[in-house]
Amino acid sequence: MTTPPSPAPNQPIVFRHGTVLTMDDRHTVLPDGDVLIIDAKIAAVGVALEVPEGAFEIDARGGILMPGMIDTHRHMWQTAMRAYGADWTLSQYFVWYYLEHGRAFRPEDIEAGNLISALDAIEGGVTTTVDWSHGLQSVEHAEAAVEALATSPGRFVHAYGNIFAAPWEWAVDASVKAQIERTARDSRLFGAQLAFDVTGDPDFPERAAFEAARDLGVPVTTHAGVWGATNDDGIRLMHENGFMDASTVYVHAATLSQDSYQRIAASGGSVSLSTESEESCGQGYPPSHALRAHGIPVSMSVDTSVWFSSDLFSAMRATLGADRAWEHLTAHENGDTITHSHLRAEQVVEWVTRGGAKALGKDHLVGSLEAGKLADVVLIKNDHSPTMSPLLNPYGHVVFQAGRGDVHTVLVGGEIVKFDGRLTGGDLNGAKAKIEATVEHLRSTLGDDLWQQGMNPDIPETTILDNPYGYTEFSSDATRRAHETFSAATPNRG
Ligand SMILES: [Zn+2]
Repeated sequence: MTTPPSPAPNQPIVFRHGTVLTMDDRHTVLPDGDVLIIDAKIAAVGVALEVPEGAFEIDARGGILMPGMIDTHRHMWQTAMRAYGADWTLSQYFVWYYLEHGRAFRPEDIEAGNLISALDAIEGGVTTTVDWSHGLQSVEHAEAAVEALATSPGRFVHAYGNIFAAPWEWAVDASVKAQIERTARDSRLFGAQLAFDVTGDPDFPERAAFEAARDLGVPVTTHAGVWGATNDDGIRLMHENGFMDASTVYVHAATLSQDSYQRIAASGGSVSLSTESEESCGQGYPPSHALRAHGIPVSMSVDTSVWFSSDLFSAMRATLGADRAWEHLTAHENGDTITHSHLRAEQVVEWVTRGGAKALGKDHLVGSLEAGKLADVVLIKNDHSPTMSPLLNPYGHVVFQAGRGDVHTVLVGGEIVKFDGRLTGGDLNGAKAKIEATVEHLRSTLGDDLWQQGMNPDIPETTILDNPYGYTEFSSDATRRAHETFSAATPNRG
């Protein structure tokens, strides 16, 4: 196997002849465009650019150049148990992650989850990620989380959280505040946030945590509108007490009233949509339709890879599907037909790039391919795949055709971290070894029975409805046989 040539440090880089989605204010698209990178920044975007002598040239023909994607809510530590909870509901997640596995995480397990998750993000073209880090039982856990991010390729905002204690207790702890201050000042990171949820208790005990965030000068990110967990009371209390502002990020915001959406819209905050999560867990129907109706800014996120995919291609696809499904379904209930879809592929590409940059207050730095911005660039190109041809509608192609396997090259601040389809930054083998040790620790701590039980929740019994057309011996026999075969293949269930 030969290693493809790669640029030397500080060598200017130019992408040639790509379809360029700039995501600038006018959404300029260049069908045959170049992007020039000099000293960590985008120096120029245009056609047939003149470039410095000796620039490293990357052939982007047949590919799409776009800004690095931005994820505003990812519980990176939970990637240590990737896919384990694929069949969970939110209730099972609370029991398993909050009460069982989560408590067993040591600082080195948080580190392992973050290391693998950081590489996962880069590999899928996500260059900025908010680590919604709510497994921090101690400051040592937080230090391990932050160090993993600081030594990984990519940009990370660390959102400090702790689901094992009340926010009005841990967020005011002097050692926690000192840790958050260190993170906020750490030039290896892209910022800090405070991550906690608001229960709706009329006494509003969360006030102390909001005040801590204000003291520290960091934004708050909060799971809002989560069926059975957080609701309109939390939003109302935040609003009445003056703790909603443009920097606040509301995650999910699914089960909320018009009144809550109006309070969010009026205070300028944004919502982080995790559509795959909302569809599976039960926070409420993915609310993109409501956010559009209220003009609330949107960013996107994957939430957790203990359940879902870790790439934002899936998030865009799921969001477009959920929004359109809602539109059709509500129209059909009224006997109407939708002839034109409101939500477009172009809009979800905006949400996954500029939307994230704006939500984090970093729109002047990242989120678009424009001269002067940091060079976070993704090239989607796969000459070995029929799926890249023909390339007619670049937004549609990114959303419904491309996937993480088509991410050819990723630059973060001008540094190549994925090239020719392979990670070049970070230490994948080292991260894998740490993950193995973590899984071994969690499995032995919980014991085999509990481990298996957590991964295979009971299936509620399915009642086969009476079917007036099932009048022949053949069809009723076939139904019974199918039922028996399924039950035999899945022991210990229902
Ligand atoms: Zn979450």
